[in-house]
Amino acid sequence: MAKTRKQPRKSSEESRNPKPRTRIGYGWDSHEFKARLPLKIGGVLLPHSHGLGGHSDGDVLLHALTDALLGAVAAPDIGSLFPPSDPQWRGSDSAIFLREALKRVGAAGYAVSSADTTLILSAPKIGPHTAKIRHRVAGLLGLPPDRVGIKAKTPEGMGMDHAAIAHAVVLLERKRTTRRKAVRL
Ligand code: MG
Repeated sequence: MAKTRKQPRKSSEESRNPKPRTRIGYGWDSHEFKARLPLKIGGVLLPHSHGLGGHSDGDVLLHALTDALLGAVAAPDIGSLFPPSDPQWRGSDSAIFLREALKRVGAAGYAVSSADTTLILSAPKIGPHTAKIRHRVAGLLGLPPDRVGIKAKTPEGMGMDHAAIAHAVVLLERKRTTRRKAVRL
């Protein structure tokens, strides 16, 4: 008779907290370039003739990251939490959306472990600004910059010169639960 492998015993931590140790989230967004608007990507103002339209500041990268964080904890998406029809979000700093998503991640018992992003736009060139964007996004996520990927590509052959697109993935890790010591009275 074939021997059956013994299943590893669950640690007491796992028995107390059945949440998965890691979770992954993915977000995507696009915004159209419009004349006479400031261009903000990843919380950084970039010199360019056009900016990104939208109800808030049009920060396509922070919107994709916000949706990735919300998706990772199965929270409502950015459009449901901050509807474009609500005038209070007009022109608002997209860092507000990201902070709300982080709050929900924390409330679900998770912390961000790393993030990776790809921007797709024909202009301006992102390369000279990558370090600044990485630093800013890492600061917003509470991560060291070496855990945040910022990549950029041009939309060759796609006829997408009028828009900027962002993809984002985040990895979350379950927060350690601290066991309270029983107090004997
Ligand atoms: Mg958006």
